[in-house]
Amino acid sequence: MEKISELFGSMVFSDAVMKERLPKETYKQVRSAIQTGKRLDDEAARIVANAMKDWAIEKGATHFTHWFQPMTGITAEKHDSFIAPTDNGQVIMEFSGKELVRGEPDASSFPSGGLRATFEARGYTAWDPTSYAFIKDNVLCIPTAFCSYGGEALDKKTPLLRSMEALNRQTLRVLKLFGHTDVTSVHTTVGPEQEYFLIDKHVYDQRKDLIYTGRTLFGAKPPKGQELDDHYFGSIKPRVAAFMRDLNTELWKVGVLAKTEHNEVAPAQHELAPVFTDGNIAADHNQLTMETMQKVAARHGMVCLLHEKPFAGVNGSGKHNNWSLSTDTGMNLLEPGDTPADNAQFLLFLCAVIQAVDDYQDMLRISVSSAANDHRLGANEAPPAIVSMFVGTELNEILEAIESETNYNGREKELLKIGVHALPRFARDTTDRNRTSPFAFTGNKFEFRMPGSSASISGVNVVLNTAVAESLRQFADELENSKDFEGDLQALIRRVIRAHKRIIFNGNGYDDAWVTEAERRGLLNLRTTPECLPYYLADKNVELFTRHRVYTRTEMEARYEIHLENYCKVLNIEALTMLDMARRNILPAVSRYIHELSDTALAVQSLTTSAVCAFEQEQIAEMSGLLSDAFRKTKTLDAALFGTKSVTGSQALANYYRDRVFTAMAELRISVDQLETMTPADVWPFPSYGDLLFSVK
Ligand code: ADP
Ligand code: MG
Repeated sequence: MEKISELFGSMVFSDAVMKERLPKETYKQVRSAIQTGKRLDDEAARIVANAMKDWAIEKGATHFTHWFQPMTGITAEKHDSFIAPTDNGQVIMEFSGKELVRGEPDASSFPSGGLRATFEARGYTAWDPTSYAFIKDNVLCIPTAFCSYGGEALDKKTPLLRSMEALNRQTLRVLKLFGHTDVTSVHTTVGPEQEYFLIDKHVYDQRKDLIYTGRTLFGAKPPKGQELDDHYFGSIKPRVAAFMRDLNTELWKVGVLAKTEHNEVAPAQHELAPVFTDGNIAADHNQLTMETMQKVAARHGMVCLLHEKPFAGVNGSGKHNNWSLSTDTGMNLLEPGDTPADNAQFLLFLCAVIQAVDDYQDMLRISVSSAANDHRLGANEAPPAIVSMFVGTELNEILEAIESETNYNGREKELLKIGVHALPRFARDTTDRNRTSPFAFTGNKFEFRMPGSSASISGVNVVLNTAVAESLRQFADELENSKDFEGDLQALIRRVIRAHKRIIFNGNGYDDAWVTEAERRGLLNLRTTPECLPYYLADKNVELFTRHRVYTRTEMEARYEIHLENYCKVLNIEALTMLDMARRNILPAVSRYIHELSDTALAVQSLTTSAVCAFEQEQIAEMSGLLSDAFRKTKTLDAALFGTKSVTGSQALANYYRDRVFTAMAELRISVDQLETMTPADVWPFPSYGDLLFSVK
């Protein structure tokens, strides 16, 4: 095996490769374009493109693509080969600066929420030099942003870059107040932990629901689920281990820092965590990770399920977004320091996050909402749908001491003065790992645990970055004019804690009492996607994103529409799939089985003169009853679907889908799952939960 150090990043047009292959002057221009976000001039672009092409061809690439993230949530690519015809009927390999910098995919089929209708028919892709180009399946992939000709963002990357820029701007202002004039840029660091399921391809292929919707729509509970907790961190099965080895190799080649892997709680569930990196790159890498997982699984005769809730009754999959702020001088701004001054700064950044999470709890909730994630949030496995924040006992005591102007835990003789007294070091381990909190401080970063496994992490980071930028903007506005920095800082921190402490909750988030307590505190509990989406366009949210130039109002309106539309479409496909499975497979199979039972009963009666065939008779009675129920419920679901036609307005339609269609689906499932427990395994038309969850040996 190749040495890992050589393998790592071998398919990435990285900084090192650029340094080696570009003329010094061009390299400097690229570096400056990366740092300042300014465009590269045409000549420099031509030189970079040419070097990229030569490098890619040496690595076996034949095609290139602009790799982008439309609002479908998955990455899109359209391959063009490098070949260009010459006069003498031959070809040469070509890749121009223009092709590198700008592309025009036929974008008419990507969701735009009406943006393209109002503006231009086409969209274009623009090179993002801050995320390195890489080769995948012999294709040179160039990370790009995707916009309309009017400049509206049509993708997930553009707002992420804008939000990082907003946060950079405001953080620099605050850092200047603490005398950090050497810092020239601040970026977010993000490490997304990715959960997923692996099942055997053979059983997957027999489940229409998995194929069409990514999750099981029917399925009785297996005799064994996750109750023994024997899967979590258990030894990894050989087939899975082989998959993970292969996956790591593929990810390392394209520069993804895949680091930790282990079994998760549910049978067949696993997790991969990368080493954290720059927020924009982390988002690209996470997309790449999800795609690679699916590809490598196929190679191993398995299917990787990234859906948030593939199976009822066992845990679903999430994606923990670990997030912090880092300066170009190497400071982690959420790392408590050793000196009083460091700690004052730390507390201010902590307060910025506390205020951001409280003020924009609705936006954070929206950023993780989807039809699929609705099955997790608020159910008894994932964080509740209420956004709250965990800071740990020790830090909480400090905040309380500041707020109430009392001594901190008897450790300080005098009042704890920010910027004067050193804070005790809260060791990473003492932030006792509260697994039930949706948003937890874990020593030197925050871990947002609500995102779903299949979603792009861009959305949550856009909200987080912008909301924190807004807190910092307010802080900087206030402190820049201060005559007494220490005193005003102390007052500001105290004020923020007082105003926003309601968002801090260090208890058990799964406890029913928390729901009541959260309501008392005035926190939002938005259980479903249709319930939270109306908050998207609230004035304060539009103001936030427009002020920091992350979204225009029009872009927000478009995204709101797309979100609602997507919710309705997902439920529609699920409902249709259920009807198809019930009507064309399940109900007929059960009916045939009842017929078989009747034949047996008749035969037994005629041969034995016995009038009773307890098993057959009772089975027939009970199953016929359930079969009629199920049949009736297919009609109700059908009628509910038909009813969608008379609902106008996308919000009303989403509400209707949740209230009528989703309810009818749940009802149908109850009868069908009961039937499954009574039907012989060889008669039931689909592999059971047991077959699926324990399919990988
Ligand atoms: P857990 O117990 O939650 O699995 P880990 O220690 O494995 O925690 O870390 C989880 C993730 O947090 C990893 O992806 C790691 O790279 C990331 N992480 C660590 N430090 C930071 C940081 N400063 N900023 C962002 N992410 C970080
Ligand atoms: Mg974690």
